[in-house]
Amino acid sequence: METLSLDRLSDEIAELSAHLEAATARLLDLIRAFDAREGWNTGFRSCAAWLSWRVGLDLGAARERVRVARALGTLPLLAQALARGELSYAKVRALTRVATPETEERLLAVGRAGTADHVERIVRGWRRVDRKAEARDDTRRHASRALHVYQGEDGMVIVRGRLAPEVGAVLVQALTAAREALYQQERGMDAKPSSADISAETPTMAQQQADALALIAETALHHGIDPGAPSERYQVVVHVDAPVLADPDAPGQSVLEDGAHVSAETARRLACDASRVVMRHGLDGRVVEVAARTRAIPPALRRALHHRDRGCRFPGCGLRFGQGHHIRHWAQGGPTTLSNLALLCRRHHRAVHEEGYQLDRQPDGELRFRRPDGRLLPEVPHLPEVPGDPVKVLRARNDAEGLVLHARTASPGWLGERLDVRWAIDVLHPLAR
Ligand SMILES: [Zn+2]
Ligand SMILES: [Zn+2]
Repeated sequence: METLSLDRLSDEIAELSAHLEAATARLLDLIRAFDAREGWNTGFRSCAAWLSWRVGLDLGAARERVRVARALGTLPLLAQALARGELSYAKVRALTRVATPETEERLLAVGRAGTADHVERIVRGWRRVDRKAEARDDTRRHASRALHVYQGEDGMVIVRGRLAPEVGAVLVQALTAAREALYQQERGMDAKPSSADISAETPTMAQQQADALALIAETALHHGIDPGAPSERYQVVVHVDAPVLADPDAPGQSVLEDGAHVSAETARRLACDASRVVMRHGLDGRVVEVAARTRAIPPALRRALHHRDRGCRFPGCGLRFGQGHHIRHWAQGGPTTLSNLALLCRRHHRAVHEEGYQLDRQPDGELRFRRPDGRLLPEVPHLPEVPGDPVKVLRARNDAEGLVLHARTASPGWLGERLDVRWAIDVLHPLAR
């Protein structure tokens, strides 16, 4: 490279940066179009997860790109300023956190006038005003979560609380499961002739809920506070025809009980990593033998599985909490061994069972995922070939778009005066006094 004067060097840096920002605008347009058509919805959790996998961005940066791309869809002035290389991606990223179609023009002026640091500070001040104005936004609702446990006058303990919807759903599920467990235990005891205490009144729903909560608390303390594999709460009943059992290679040797009206594949997914009870049937269909309840994957093996796989093995996922998937299902004779198991998150366990994604283990031990149409889904996709001089190509493309980019394109109007953020917000924000 020729030795440039420092002035020319700095101009080169500024000019090429403007070209890159203009190209970033086009990249965001493409991401927005891809996202709108859900091109990522081919086994990936989100557009950001796909982007992270496809181009190697870290997930946080990928999320920001998708967020900014979506926001620019409704903010044409900011989108144009980025496309013309007049505003940097850093400024646009900050401004899109607060901009609306109504305030976009004012914020664009802030972006043009100030440095990236000024813009960041104005946006922070802006958000403070926004937060005050929108008292009932999600952040506030989340902050209002609470659980009060206190003793009433008669010594009973009173529980009162507010939970986020998804946490509430988990609680309701746990209460239901605990109530069912208590109810089934009682039924089981009734079946025995020795328990003659039938006169006891059936508890009300509210009483059952209270008993269920007690059982949940005892269970949590007994097993340690560990959310564990989500499917551990499922118990699967397997019906096995005794004569067939003699030949482990026979197809259809066992049938999963389809209690909850789920599809066969869903039942197989739940069974993949669950507790199971095996019932043998005689030739006449009667139950001959009921084996003890066992875990499909014993705790020691599960620990080894978590240690080996660390998280979901689906390409581009890596989520830490996962379920043990039998590559060849145990109901079809697949062994419960490390080599036949792979850790998959809930989303991707579903992808493999119900959405047609295929998974096998190569002789060298590597996992291989395929899309429903049979195409390989590589762990890391091949990056596209970069042309010999990417800068030349970039400039040519921007020129072809009619862009006039030079060393001063992205320079702020700031002349060095002090920035008074509070004054700026008072003047600019529509909700400020
Ligand atoms: Zn599975
Ligand atoms: Zn996953």
